[in-house]
Amino acid sequence: MTKTMSGDAAEQNLAISNIEKMAAIEHIRLSVRQLCAKFAEDYWLQMDRESGYPTEFVRELTDSGFLGVLIPEQYGGSGLGVLEAAAVMEEICRSGAHAGVCHAQMYVMGSVLRHGSEEQKNTYLPKIARGELRLQSFGVTEPTTGTDTTSLQTTAKRLGDKYVINGQKVWISRIEHSDLMVLLARTTDRDKVSKKTEGLSAFLLDVGSAKGNGLTIQPIESMINHHACELFFDDLEIPADNLLGKEGQGFKVILDGMNAERILIAAECVGDGRYFIDKASAYASQRQVFNRPIGANQGVQFPIARAYTQVEAAALMVEKAANLFDGGLPCGAEANMAKMLASEASWQAGDICMQTHGGFAFAKEYHIERKFRETRLYQIAPISTNLILSFVAEHVLDMPRSY
Ligand SMILES: Cc1cc2nc3c(=O)[nH]c(=O)nc-3n(C[C@H](O)[C@H](O)[C@H](O)COP(=O)(O)OP(=O)(O)OC[C@H]3O[C@@H](n4cnc5c(N)ncnc54)[C@H](O)[C@@H]3O)c2cc1C
Repeated sequence: MTKTMSGDAAEQNLAISNIEKMAAIEHIRLSVRQLCAKFAEDYWLQMDRESGYPTEFVRELTDSGFLGVLIPEQYGGSGLGVLEAAAVMEEICRSGAHAGVCHAQMYVMGSVLRHGSEEQKNTYLPKIARGELRLQSFGVTEPTTGTDTTSLQTTAKRLGDKYVINGQKVWISRIEHSDLMVLLARTTDRDKVSKKTEGLSAFLLDVGSAKGNGLTIQPIESMINHHACELFFDDLEIPADNLLGKEGQGFKVILDGMNAERILIAAECVGDGRYFIDKASAYASQRQVFNRPIGANQGVQFPIARAYTQVEAAALMVEKAANLFDGGLPCGAEANMAKMLASEASWQAGDICMQTHGGFAFAKEYHIERKFRETRLYQIAPISTNLILSFVAEHVLDMPRSY
């Protein structure tokens, strides 16, 4: 009897703490929505046209503490979880904004938090939380190695108290708007390690001092305003103290951040998806053709309802993955599945939003074509759908490795 009562009490406490958590997340959503409302869609259109960087938006997001939600309180952040961070990212995208301008700080910071020395954490994290330093960039992809990360060619050779970096990176986003970058390079030749995931090391690179002293940055003109660049390293010297984690174990440093990255990107896609559904359903209810709203036709309303259903299903997987992550439980499969489902759902929602708007979808002032381009990225980066499917096939379904 006593046991049952204490069980009931524990369940009640759990329910209360869940309600409190949901209320806190609702509060975060509302605050992010209010912040985003100050930056109208025309602001984002202007950024897109000029390949501009939304410095004011990122500043306000940082000052309000939203970019530091994952930084523990002892380092000046809010010390919240990925569930809360996902709500921030989703609301940014839902407002019509482009979270790709700042999302990396949320998850790249995790490499410093989990693998940095106490000194590195004390040096960098409080400054990142205050917005004095921006850690918006990570350099992994190379011209010949995107998906096949461990075959990367960039090298870092130890020379006394320095490392000397040589090589090339491509598609490195936001480096021109970042003070620090996490860089992955090979410190031990591939033929001298037993596993190809070994011999890679991660470094914290001071972009300002590297630029012009061995690092050349060249912007890439691309389909979306993602501030992606090509990087050339020519005998760049960096202090050996900038090693993040242990030498040779850099792949783990990067891998550890991937689940958070996938969950947050998936949340962005949910935000994009909800943005498209909001726009499509409103337009379908208002646009008159043959003297009635186009949304009265099932041929118009069913695809919107289907896209809505797919976005909501993806949102549940995002929530599941985030809860597992925050609970310290394995979440690789869920994070990957959330990213795949959400990126496909947002793309479907974008496609149907375009269709619903007819010719006006192509007018930039309607903003749909911009969001349509932006959300397309997430079926390719940071990991493509094929690689997620092969992860699920191999690691969840125990099927043979396909590559
Ligand atoms: C706008 C933008 C921003 C980016 N930002 C960054 C960044 O900040 N930092 C960074 O490091 N990288 C960044 N990237 C790079 C991105 O992570 C890579 O483009 C992505 O990992 C895919 O690599 P890839 O382009 O070399 O494609 P590839 O590896 O050449 O693959 C091409 C296609 O082949 C498929 N494929 C490959 N191998 C297999 C297989 N075995 N089975 C089935 N299909 C396969 C892939 O799924 C993909 O569709 C960015 C890319 C873009 C476009």
